[in-house]
Amino acid sequence: MTEQPSVLPPFMRETLRSTNRRTVDRAEWPDGKRCCVSLHVHVDGQTVWRGLGVEKLVYISNGEYGVRTVVWRLLELFRRRGLKASFFVPGWTAESYPEVVQAASEQGHELSHHSYSHTLADLGPLPDGTFDRAVEEREFDRALCILRDLSGQEIKGFVPAGGELTPHSIDILLSRGIVYQAQCSADDIPYWWMIDGEACGLLEVPTHWSVADAPQFLYALIPQMGSIKPAEHVHRMWKDDFDAFRELGRCLVLQLHPQWIGRPARIQMLDRLLEYMQSFDDVWFATGFEIWEYWKRTYPPERLPA
Ligand SMILES: [Zn+2]
Repeated sequence: MTEQPSVLPPFMRETLRSTNRRTVDRAEWPDGKRCCVSLHVHVDGQTVWRGLGVEKLVYISNGEYGVRTVVWRLLELFRRRGLKASFFVPGWTAESYPEVVQAASEQGHELSHHSYSHTLADLGPLPDGTFDRAVEEREFDRALCILRDLSGQEIKGFVPAGGELTPHSIDILLSRGIVYQAQCSADDIPYWWMIDGEACGLLEVPTHWSVADAPQFLYALIPQMGSIKPAEHVHRMWKDDFDAFRELGRCLVLQLHPQWIGRPARIQMLDRLLEYMQSFDDVWFATGFEIWEYWKRTYPPERLPA
């Protein structure tokens, strides 16, 4: 059997690390707050199903539900609660539903990059296992222009589609002014990505499957995707996570997809959870970019222990 080529960036192939520094044990947050909560909304729409290689109508209609119906529910919920989120939107989705991007931006939310088509196969894979950088750059820039034009914002955050990077991705991100990524899980507070032992300028604002909606609510006829859980069960789990993050002073990034979090009972559960989090006056709610601004000022790489 021949070995499958790795799609990890070269520095990760050697070390299997995105950072090699010990965590900050007791992170401090602005204005004496005790912990941080960041709400990240992945408005994939139909593209996530293309990325997964299942383009049947029943799957696609789930994606449509997210961008036709639920994203508006989420915007209303955040407006009512006075919360600002980071919206990660693939270029195709933004192009197809421009009013979603415009409304999110008008309400003061951050717009962030989430590829153009949410499909690794569109990033220029070559038969020898390498990737064509020019193809990935075109894909990246296409989405970047659409998001900038529709939102009027400089785009600073990125989530790789399906959590996968090619060997060119980090270089492309940095060359386009992206300053943070929000997908990996090597810590539960932000950390700087390292290349050849040096911080490269990209901050990870980490999340985890346990505080994402997909592993709890995504049911599909694909073996690795499990069964649907009751909203109350997930409420208990996320509340426990929040309590522990608050106790330890960490950064909880709740990752939400309209098509999964937005079923009526689930969005009511999210409302109850946010109400609980907001009942404490020592929680800093921040977008991904606000976290980057604070972290860069307070914990720049040169001030951290090696
Ligand atoms: Zn996605």
